[in-house]
Amino acid sequence: MNMDCAPSTALDASAATSDYPGNLFVVAAPSGAGKSSLVKALLELDAQVQLSVSHTTRAPRGQERHGREYFFVSDAEFDAMIAAGAFVEWANVHGHRYGTSRRAIEERIASGADVILEIDWQGALQIRRAFANAVLIFILPPSWEELRARLLRRGEDRPEVIALRLRNAAEEMAHAHEFDYVIINEVFERALFDLKAIVHAQRLRYVAQRRLRPEIFSALNIS
Ligand code: 5GP
Repeated sequence: MNMDCAPSTALDASAATSDYPGNLFVVAAPSGAGKSSLVKALLELDAQVQLSVSHTTRAPRGQERHGREYFFVSDAEFDAMIAAGAFVEWANVHGHRYGTSRRAIEERIASGADVILEIDWQGALQIRRAFANAVLIFILPPSWEELRARLLRRGEDRPEVIALRLRNAAEEMAHAHEFDYVIINEVFERALFDLKAIVHAQRLRYVAQRRLRPEIFSALNIS
């Protein structure tokens, strides 16, 4: 995997200590682990969670639409966004560049929405440096056999692309230990339950509850 990504010096250190009312969830996984299906199901169930739509230099696949799965941009447009400091993180994944708009995230978590990012491990670690409270979730497949079978079933990629994704999967999974939570996507409904549980637990944190229900805390004389 090409390791190009945004230098950490480009990050805004002030953001790391900011205390936004919304939560930031970052989900990473090797291709085929079921990350997109899980996130899609969560979004359908929970209107408070919003998906961050990344920019990418790769071409659209299948039914993908500009502005829905990704903002599809040229190399020149991507370069211009880097130069303008528009990305909170970006990385080169499978030979294409992908980046997350800083403004889109900040505006939404500042307004109290929860934002979820589906990005690779390099981006996830950059997000943690920029947003110290980000919750990093790694999704694992139950086995190599199942991962290969899911990539083949998807039927969207050429055989050489599938081979590249499998080679990259080992490197992606080698970073799972740097994440806060791991979900093993063996049975979809169970994995979705786990994802919902993580989101729910985050909303029960002391600071979140105090912000949501200040009247109860003051009536109980709790600071
Ligand atoms: P795909 O081309 O299959 O949609 O995505 C390939 C990989 O790029 C996936 O691991 C996906 O999570 C990652 N990716 C998508 N958007 C971003 C992004 O904005 N930043 C980073 N670092 N990775 C991304």
